[in-house]
Amino acid sequence: MMSWCHRFAASALAVLLLFCASSCTLTASDPSSDAPVYSLSELPAYNGEPSVVLNSNVPLFRESEMSAIGFEEYSSLDRLGRCGVVLSCIGPEMMPTEERGPIGSVKPSGWKTAKYDFVDGKYLYNRCHLIGFQLTGENANERNLITGTRYMNTEGMLPYENLVANYIRTTGNHVMYRVTPDFRGEELVARGVAIEALSVEDDGEGLCFYVYCYNVQPGVTILYEDGANYESLDTLGGESERFVLNTNSKKIHRPDCASVKAMSDMNRQDFEGSLAVLEAQGYRTCGECF
Ligand SMILES: [Zn+2]
Repeated sequence: MMSWCHRFAASALAVLLLFCASSCTLTASDPSSDAPVYSLSELPAYNGEPSVVLNSNVPLFRESEMSAIGFEEYSSLDRLGRCGVVLSCIGPEMMPTEERGPIGSVKPSGWKTAKYDFVDGKYLYNRCHLIGFQLTGENANERNLITGTRYMNTEGMLPYENLVANYIRTTGNHVMYRVTPDFRGEELVARGVAIEALSVEDDGEGLCFYVYCYNVQPGVTILYEDGANYESLDTLGGESERFVLNTNSKKIHRPDCASVKAMSDMNRQDFEGSLAVLEAQGYRTCGECF
């Protein structure tokens, strides 16, 4: 897929296997690569692309995590009922041979039923598999399902899941695969998911990526704290404007307010819509910038 990625991963793995203790991680950037070098902590805001490349596309598997034998590990739900990291080594023996069953019994954190005419399939939210069903056949597993937009599911994650599934089907090889949901603060809906994949038997030659898929839906504003959502263009009257919300203090700021600069990323949320929509959610305008 990407020769630099292959070269790096192959040599790094060889070195790791020979010399490294279990605390080693695959980290490096190749100056010849055009891929951006975002880390998860400096992620750019969604700008119209369903996913972006992280860390020059080099996944961060530790040597001690690498395996050529299939396994899957799911984190326990946290006290807010949220999924955590899932780690897997996927091979042909893991892939499902049965039809997918119903998953409507699982209610992931922040789950709400919401429909918009302009969303593919109408439903804003899907029960979104962290590790896609086509990869390991894990279906109604509450530790593998988050509240994800249709857009993230089909435009963001699915193309990468298909890459992995096709690689495994054509080679019979294994792929290390990790999905990390990006929950911030006390929010019940993830801002997105990071996906890492590295093919095992060929040391990343066949497959090597590290990407972030945004949990957004064009045309819809999502309040990540509880999954509330609105059509971005105004639905409650009033002009649509850009605001910055402090989800902790419940204050509405104009983007140029001094408080916005001082706000921690954890509490910050960008919003486009009308004041009426926000006030209906319990938000109040800032005394400085209004
Ligand atoms: Zn303000």
